[in-house]
Amino acid sequence: MSTKLTPMMEQYLRIKDDYPDALLFFRMGDFYELFFQDAELAARELQIALTSRNPNDDNKVPMCGVPYHALEEYLRQLLEKRFKIAICDQIEDPRQAKGLVKRAVTRVLTPGTVVEDTSLQAKTNNYLCALTSSSSRNEGGLAWIDFSTGHWSGLVSKHEQELWQWMDKLNPSEILCPEGMTVPAPFIHLKERISWLPFSAYFDLSRATESLCSVQGVTNLEPLDLEDKPGLAQACGALLIYLRQTQKQDLSHIKSFSPLNLSKHLILDDVTERNLEIFQRLDGGKGPGTLWHVLDFTKTPMGGRLLQARLRHPWRELKPIQANQETVAFFFAKDNLRKAIQTALETVYDLERLSTRIALNRCSPKDFMALRTSLDHLPELERKLGEAAKEEESPKEILKVLKAWDNLEDLQALLQKSLVGNPPTIITEGGLFQSGYDDELDELLELTEHGEGKLKDLLHSEQTGHDLPKLKLGFNRVFGYYFELSKAHKGPVPEHFHRRQTLVNSERYVTDELKDLEEKLFSASERRKNLEYELFQRLREEVHGLQGRIIAMADILGRIDVWQGLAQAASSREWNRPEVHTGLDIHIQQGRHPAVEASLGRADYIPNDLSLTSQGNILLITGPNMAGKSTVLRQAAIICILAQIGSFVPARSCSLGLADRIFTRVGASDNLSQGRSTFMVEMTETARILRQAGKRSLIILDEIGRGTSTYDGMALAWAVIENLAHKGEQGVRTLFATHFHELTELESSIPGIRNFNIAVKEWKGDVIFLRRMVPGPADRSYGIEVAKLAGVPKPVIQRARELLSDLERKSDNLHKKNSSRAPSQSLLPGLFQNRQEAEAATSKAQEPHPLVQKLQDLELEKMTPLEAMNLLQEWKNTWSDQ
Ligand code: ADP
Repeated sequence: MSTKLTPMMEQYLRIKDDYPDALLFFRMGDFYELFFQDAELAARELQIALTSRNPNDDNKVPMCGVPYHALEEYLRQLLEKRFKIAICDQIEDPRQAKGLVKRAVTRVLTPGTVVEDTSLQAKTNNYLCALTSSSSRNEGGLAWIDFSTGHWSGLVSKHEQELWQWMDKLNPSEILCPEGMTVPAPFIHLKERISWLPFSAYFDLSRATESLCSVQGVTNLEPLDLEDKPGLAQACGALLIYLRQTQKQDLSHIKSFSPLNLSKHLILDDVTERNLEIFQRLDGGKGPGTLWHVLDFTKTPMGGRLLQARLRHPWRELKPIQANQETVAFFFAKDNLRKAIQTALETVYDLERLSTRIALNRCSPKDFMALRTSLDHLPELERKLGEAAKEEESPKEILKVLKAWDNLEDLQALLQKSLVGNPPTIITEGGLFQSGYDDELDELLELTEHGEGKLKDLLHSEQTGHDLPKLKLGFNRVFGYYFELSKAHKGPVPEHFHRRQTLVNSERYVTDELKDLEEKLFSASERRKNLEYELFQRLREEVHGLQGRIIAMADILGRIDVWQGLAQAASSREWNRPEVHTGLDIHIQQGRHPAVEASLGRADYIPNDLSLTSQGNILLITGPNMAGKSTVLRQAAIICILAQIGSFVPARSCSLGLADRIFTRVGASDNLSQGRSTFMVEMTETARILRQAGKRSLIILDEIGRGTSTYDGMALAWAVIENLAHKGEQGVRTLFATHFHELTELESSIPGIRNFNIAVKEWKGDVIFLRRMVPGPADRSYGIEVAKLAGVPKPVIQRARELLSDLERKSDNLHKKNSSRAPSQSLLPGLFQNRQEAEAATSKAQEPHPLVQKLQDLELEKMTPLEAMNLLQEWKNTWSDQ
């Protein structure tokens, strides 16, 4: 086949060789073409026609293609499906090429390096992560970057599992790992996003240091706080090397690096974030039911992303929390100001991603328009904020913002006078700039748009200047434009007229001026396109020069947006400002779960009080299924998170001793697809909580031990509570929902444990949920009533009632016997009385089955196969019914 390859196909294969793992889009004229397997794959994924480059050959080359102007849309679809794409362009003008046009890959697109808005979610970061393993000597490192905004950070840990957890939380689009690294079982779902890279080429420390220093403009790693974090420096290096290779550009838009200092943040691990349904519901869906859905009132992508980041790692120190609370309160109190700010922010586009595209030269004229529109309202915003700040003592954050404010008037003026109001998307076809921006372009515009008029003007001046009223203007393919005089003209012909052609009735002439004008007209259109392209590049450079100022304003607008958004949430949802302190007590008065409340309606939601103090910092909450135990647990955790991002909270009042970690073990988050049973997942999470929780943690445990047998489950739950109660000096703040009523006995034996229950009322055999948390244990579980409520058929309910009263009677009798015989066992009455029963049942079960006895007695060596078969048949007949 190779003998038949054209030079162009040879060129294609040479280039494709360097990008075996990417779909190669090969520019040919107005199309990007794909060949061979790439073509088959792309045709299938993009639903475009698969053809052949050489339909009459035996060895057909499959081919498909997309028009160059529609490229971005097709790329978006492929990136969404996580394909890697290499774009191969013609790097010389085909008209000037001698022989085969030179081509080269100009960029490689990967899911983690996208910068186009169409492929990104406005309020969500798109992360590319790199990970290095921890060893006995070194901590491992995880670095992440949102290439579209240039923000990046990372963290170190001795425990590799922690790095994976954090990565899972970031939900990266793409992950870089050194070849040979193993993916731990719980994170196996991330495997398909991993690009495996050779260690020496990407993760080597000296290469990493070199890349970091050159991109960040530093001489060593100290200013980046990376000098003692080799694992993290390596991960950062891998990101930079990978980005250089794929983007083939300088990475000047990347912001300065600083590692995430976990000691300043409230840590919410991936499990907690999922369990509390912060961004996603437990069923994986987004929108209603999530905290994000009720909280997000931001208007700009920058604000949305900042709020997400805050929710991912709230603060744990008083200072930033109080500074933000104060600012949210400022906007909360000023409805009009807030509304005006919202209106202004609605017209602000994604300045961060815009400026990244400008820096990378991947921008379109529409990006500049978006930039221009975004700047429109800045002066008004500044004025309004300034006025509001004068009225009273205004928050420090507002004063800081006003001090740093920059309306970017120079940029606004530049954009106002340069581009037309609604420029085309393509930058090579002209039509981008206004007249008056550039003299040379004005001349060309004049020519292309008023060419006819210029010719007429020239004709007119010849006619009047030389008394030639009958002079005409004509055009043919041979001479181009000419003047024509009929033979009837008898007067003199001006000297500057050069005769070109004599016809029967007329003479044709040209003049130097006419030829000049013609030349200008013919080339003007082409020159205009080229000049506009050049001017666009110059404009881009100029705007890029202001990048620092644009980004600073993007940052300010993002922060204002978060403050106004939180104030709006507080106002729309009737939230109040919490008091945060460094003690450990938590008092929530009339707390609500914001997402459940939003779905039920404010009127139908019953608020609840909750207090955790040194006298009672472990609450054991009992109550029937559906009573509202999980809700009350989660609402406490959510209130804590909201308070620690500086937000108001859904409670009448709240005083909160700051938390450093929130742990949750909620419901049965089944991980069967990862080969782990529900119980295994539950215990892994519990184990982590017990190992990592400290006195400042807040723990939410919902139905621990449900995944195994009653005794095992109850024993485990019991031991877990004991352990938490005895941790440190006064145990760990814990909310523990359980249906094991036996555990409520713990209140009397361990100080710090308090029983609560979610009240229900029984009425005519039905259970009514009151949703109120009250002191004391629940009286019973109301399982049958709840089943009835759920629609279990009447006969089954009736039968269950009979069985229950039977069991209760037996259990009572046994309990009476036991308590007269062994009073010392009364600490765990429920557990032991049932165990007696269970043991009796087990001892009966331990007598061997008669068939087992027969098998043991069998002398198999003395039997023929037929006898064995007959015996088997006989047993089958005898035992198969039993
Ligand atoms: P449990 O954990 O006790 O089984 P849940 O907390 O899951 O119960 O609550 C069950 C349902 O009860 C919730 O989905 C919600 O609709 C409703 N609910 C819970 N708490 C309240 C409340 N305080 N006010 C009104 N409805 C509530």
